Amino acid sequence: MKYFGIKIALIAAVIMTFNGCSRNPVTGKKEVMLMSKAQELALGKQYDPQISAAYGVYKDAKLQAFINDKGKQMGRISHRPDLNYQFKIMDSPVVNAFAVPGGYIYFTRGIMAHFNNEAEFAGVLGHEIGHVTARHSAQQQTKATFAQIGLVAGLVAGGEKFAQFAGTAQQGLQMLFLKFGRDDESQSDKLGVEYSTRIGYDAKEMAGFFSTLDRLSAKSGHDIPTFLSTHPHPHDRFTKVGEMASSWQQKTGKTDYKINRNQYLRMIDGLVYGEDPRQGYVDNNVFYHPGLKFQFPTPTNWKVANSPAQVQIAEPNGKAAILFQLGQGTSPRAAAQELVQQAQLKVIEQSDKKVNGLNAYVMVSDQVAQDQQGQQQQGPRILSYFIQYGNNLYVMHGLSAQQDFDRYFSLFQNTMEGFNKLTDPSKINVKPERISIKTVPKNCTLKQALADFKMAPTRYEELAILNGMKQTDRLTTGTLIKVVEKK
Ligand SMILES: [Zn+2]
Repeated sequence: MKYFGIKIALIAAVIMTFNGCSRNPVTGKKEVMLMSKAQELALGKQYDPQISAAYGVYKDAKLQAFINDKGKQMGRISHRPDLNYQFKIMDSPVVNAFAVPGGYIYFTRGIMAHFNNEAEFAGVLGHEIGHVTARHSAQQQTKATFAQIGLVAGLVAGGEKFAQFAGTAQQGLQMLFLKFGRDDESQSDKLGVEYSTRIGYDAKEMAGFFSTLDRLSAKSGHDIPTFLSTHPHPHDRFTKVGEMASSWQQKTGKTDYKINRNQYLRMIDGLVYGEDPRQGYVDNNVFYHPGLKFQFPTPTNWKVANSPAQVQIAEPNGKAAILFQLGQGTSPRAAAQELVQQAQLKVIEQSDKKVNGLNAYVMVSDQVAQDQQGQQQQGPRILSYFIQYGNNLYVMHGLSAQQDFDRYFSLFQNTMEGFNKLTDPSKINVKPERISIKTVPKNCTLKQALADFKMAPTRYEELAILNGMKQTDRLTTGTLIKVVEKK
């Protein structure tokens, strides 16, 4: 959790008006667009700060300069050279890249860690710019809008939905920009090949990156890169991109296409890899946030999910959940009152309180729910703590069905009353893992090299994928490889 960045109003504000037909910049065909170019630009401008706040921007001047440079160069040779393209690296370990209307392109530090040369990056860059130039995101946006409105309506009117709300808003944000149809993905692959070829990169490398994505999703089962998940046949995609790359290269007659493996690897030396514990972690049933310097206990065996916007702690059967996030308001009491209004809560009891010396406000409430016919239904019962600590106001909600509430009450209370300042230096001074680039000192297999660099055997496969290699691949003296180190 960093801070709560997504607001309902912003999602609801994406209601677009009908604008008739316009010409698609890539195909030249007329099509029905729900958004004008001006609206597209306005939308990007509106979403960009939200996305930056929700994920956090990864600060790395060298890498940022590189993506700006390549991105602007590619924008100029694209089908929409007039757009003012913006490029950012999001502080997320998830492997992903996505585009937003108006020319906003985002890469996660997770995907930057998994590229093994500049040409792979250029292929994905071209793919994302392709979504913008062919106006896929614009069309996608309009489809997603209705789902989003439904979601917000669910928060206001629905009972069950409340528990999932902030989490769903987060997921909704990802889906909003990433779910393209297969035809759109194929067209973007084609544009990715064209654009990366035209700025001098070997587009065959882009095909190679699909196999990295394929191996990642096969291994993790979850965290499937959405870049891949919308495409049911990664192998076809791999083959097709390879063929298109060859035919483009024949067409130009050039032979010296760039890959730039070593340059790329040197550039990502030191990149944060995986979850960053400085943004919150769980150790021995306690959640620690070194950056914001607080801690609280979590119920044994409950599942903890930490996102930039929120910490979600769920009972294993999903019958109860604790949500933790930053609140807004001038005082704990004011924040409580605002929420009562916003979520239409029926207050059962409320009072001022001290939590480990911090000013707090405690409330038990029921949410009034309505089903689709507008009939009132029983919503969840909620124990809420609003706690002032430093300049921040923290909010915790414990939710369950009314009949289960007494059963979970003491667990909720234990977590919330356990909120405290974090002062233990050993819990504060945690270090993330980072990519470290090593030179292989002798001819050997990747597996041998990883062993020589003291990597844990349980991580050989993960590191092989990270390097875009097999464990059995033979390396020659002087080859650069990625390992990971805490520092
Ligand atoms: Zn795509």
